[in-house]
Amino acid sequence: MKAFKTESKKILDMMINSIYTNKDIFLRELISNASDAIDKAHFDALTNSDRQREYKIKVDIDKNARTLTITDNGIGMDALELEKNLGTIAKSGTEEFKKELGEKSDLEVIGQFGVGFYSAFMVADFVEVYSKTFDGKASKWQSHGASGYDIEELDGGEVGTKIVLHIKTNSEDFNYDKYLEEYEIRNLIKKYSDYIRYPIEMSKIVNSKNDAGDEVTENVYETVNSMVPLWKRNKADIKEEEYNDFYKNNFYDYENPLHIIHYSVEGKVSFKALLYFPSKVDYNFYTKDYEKGLKLFTNGVLITDKYAELLPDYFSFVKGVVDAELPLNVSRETLQHSKDVQVIALNIENKIKTELENILKNDREKYEKFYEQFGLQLKYTIYKEFGLNKEKLQDLLMFYSTKEGKNITFKEYVEKSKEGESKIYYIPAKNKDIVKTMPMVDEVLEKGNDVLVLTDNIDELVLKMIVKYADRQFANVMNESGEKEELTLTDEDKNVETFAKGILGDKVEEVKLTQKLKDHPVGLLADGEISLDMEKSFVGTPNENSVKAKKILQINMQSSVFEKLKKSIIDNKDYAEKLVKVLYEQARLSAGLELEDATNYTKLVCELI
Ligand code: ADP
Repeated sequence: MKAFKTESKKILDMMINSIYTNKDIFLRELISNASDAIDKAHFDALTNSDRQREYKIKVDIDKNARTLTITDNGIGMDALELEKNLGTIAKSGTEEFKKELGEKSDLEVIGQFGVGFYSAFMVADFVEVYSKTFDGKASKWQSHGASGYDIEELDGGEVGTKIVLHIKTNSEDFNYDKYLEEYEIRNLIKKYSDYIRYPIEMSKIVNSKNDAGDEVTENVYETVNSMVPLWKRNKADIKEEEYNDFYKNNFYDYENPLHIIHYSVEGKVSFKALLYFPSKVDYNFYTKDYEKGLKLFTNGVLITDKYAELLPDYFSFVKGVVDAELPLNVSRETLQHSKDVQVIALNIENKIKTELENILKNDREKYEKFYEQFGLQLKYTIYKEFGLNKEKLQDLLMFYSTKEGKNITFKEYVEKSKEGESKIYYIPAKNKDIVKTMPMVDEVLEKGNDVLVLTDNIDELVLKMIVKYADRQFANVMNESGEKEELTLTDEDKNVETFAKGILGDKVEEVKLTQKLKDHPVGLLADGEISLDMEKSFVGTPNENSVKAKKILQINMQSSVFEKLKKSIIDNKDYAEKLVKVLYEQARLSAGLELEDATNYTKLVCELI
């Protein structure tokens, strides 16, 4: 006997000892596997027409033997595949599943994920799987549960898979016998698997008379499910719960979707689409492991589970199904070049975009939720594509408005700003709350303009890609690009600038006096392409030293420190030098940068005190 892998054993134990009340789901899981296997066979037969069959799933009860048997004529498994698929947990979305497994009770985990094949052990204490592929030998896998499993090769056998469940005997708290009742099983099929696209047949005993007039009893199979997939049904007849269940069962999410789009197009290219926006990003969404795509059916055949070309990168979060009428000879390879598929993809893209615009307009709360999860993806694509699709996406972006205290779009910014204004002001800052106290922000606000707060590292780069919105330039309030200040400076004043620049050397590009800083004695500005925040976001990376902003140290002419500095440059140069160094570090701090030389700074401050 072979032992299960540790993780599989853990899940199996959980199934065997499960107190999960909804044991009924085992049937849905096994039927869904059978349907997947037929999907694969069906696809395979597109290129191997001799393998074409009448596809069906059969469910049989044998009360005396206490067995419930599920048979499909799908793709089947050979001995190796039985080993690989049933010996280890193969549940799609395994990573997420494992994570949850560590933290939650079996009740929550089973409820959220369904658990595939192993759920058979919730109702059976012995499971036999007979399977055969077109080319391979028939094989049998069997297991009494956690102790392990056996695999052997057999002679003969039909292509497909037969799963025999030996139903547990009744316990004090559970009536397992119900899974041997035809009526119960029919109900479960109707309830959970009605939409399965292949007939699920159960036998029925029919009494009739033969030609000779004798009474005969016959076992005839009849189809239990309606076979109409959800996306082909009439929207008005579908309950929200059905949409949600379908989503959770097919796309491995345990939360309801945030938004559902169900529509169909009739015309040169006809198709039906059922699309979902998840409520939360997938655990791997922002990594390279994430695969975008929609399930694609053509003429009732599942072509692929994730057809990437149907979604642009910026909408890669969308999940769903597309069922299209395409020429029958398509394969996964030729599909790529099919004009029809491009037409569908474009239609879907426009639909998603319009839908997002509508949500933004009519249900702000929902849009905020969406944006919190997927806004970064929109921004990331603009950046990555160098602004290629900015026209499509820029109106879907939002940034935090200092004035309004909430997220707003560029359009809203422009609508609410002063007439004749030529800029959209922004400030990159991790913390929205400190922004209001910054002197440069204050200055812009006082003139009646709003300042957008860019909180993501990528934001400023995104604005650089967009370049302009409604003919307005983006302006970083921290940059010197604002209006020049007209000051009348005495020689003594100018001397302060030269002296301080002499002390600081290359640390700053320039030292400038200003009257704009209000209560702040000093400020730091960036001059040029690299902003202070870009510098901040590169701290600790290998590029740290190459990404440095050109800095301008501002000294507030209206502060007492300025007077002190001016005086000491004349009568106590040593003191003046220390003061300049401390002021520079202070300016760094108030701009959100780290101290350049913390040890020396503390020493200097003490000496000055
Ligand atoms: P999942 O279906 O989520 O991958 P399961 O544990 O239910 O996880 O099934 C594991 C694997 O076993 C499937 O991915 C499939 O390859 C294979 N399998 C299960 N049932 C069948 C079947 N009836 N016919 C062919 N292969 C099957």
